[in-house]
Amino acid sequence: MKLPQGATLVVASHNAGKVREIFALLSPFGIVVKGAAEQGLAEPEETGETFADNAALKARAAALASKCYALADDSGLAVEALGGAPGIYSARWGGEKRDFALAMKKVQTLLVQLNKRDYGAKFVCALALSDPAGNVEIFEGEVHGHLEFPPRGTHGFGYDPIFVAKGMTQTFGEIDPAAKHAISHRAKAFEKFARAVLGAA
Ligand code: IMP
Repeated sequence: MKLPQGATLVVASHNAGKVREIFALLSPFGIVVKGAAEQGLAEPEETGETFADNAALKARAAALASKCYALADDSGLAVEALGGAPGIYSARWGGEKRDFALAMKKVQTLLVQLNKRDYGAKFVCALALSDPAGNVEIFEGEVHGHLEFPPRGTHGFGYDPIFVAKGMTQTFGEIDPAAKHAISHRAKAFEKFARAVLGAA
C-alpha cells in the first residue's frame, strides 16, 4: 500500500525509545507523525505468537481507534542458545517496571546456568502498517551479532548494552545512535517499508 500525500501516520507504540527511533527514521519523508500516547490511544494486549502477529494487532488497533494510518513495531532479542528467548517476551522479561538491567541479568544467568558458550543472538523487528480500515502490511528486519557481559554503554534502550553486532566490538549501548540506525533490525525493516510505502529509492 502507499501512504497518501499529507496523511497522518500514528506511531502505535508507548515505548519512548522506539518512538524516538521511528520518528528519526521517518523525519526525512515530510509526513505528519504522531505518537500513540499523545493521541490517548490504549495499548492492546500482545496476544500474538510472532513478532508479525503482535505488530499487526497493535497497528490495526491504533488505526481503527484514530481513523488514521498507523505504524507499529514489535521487536525483541532472540538468543540462539536459549532457543530464541526472550523473543516476543523481550519487554516482559523486564517485569512490570520494564527493568532491563534485570532482564539482561536474567539472560546472563540462564546462559551461565545452562553452561552455554555460544552467545550468538539477533535483534528482530516486524513493522506493521495499517490503513484506517484495518488492512495490514508487514515489513521485517534482523541484525545478527552476539552478547557480551556485563552491559556497557548508555545509548539506546532495552538490551542494547549487551548486544554487539557482527563485525563490531562496541555494544549498541556504546555506539552513536546514528551508527545503530544505519544497521539495526528496525532500520532494515524500515528500509523495506520506506521503499514500498513512501516510494524511497
Ligand atoms: P515490544 O515490541 O514493545 O513488545 O518490546 C520489544 C522489547 O524488545 C523492548 O522493550 C526491548 O526490550 C527489546 N528491543 C527491541 N528493539 C530493541 C533495540 O533496538 N535495542 C534494544 N532492545 C530492543
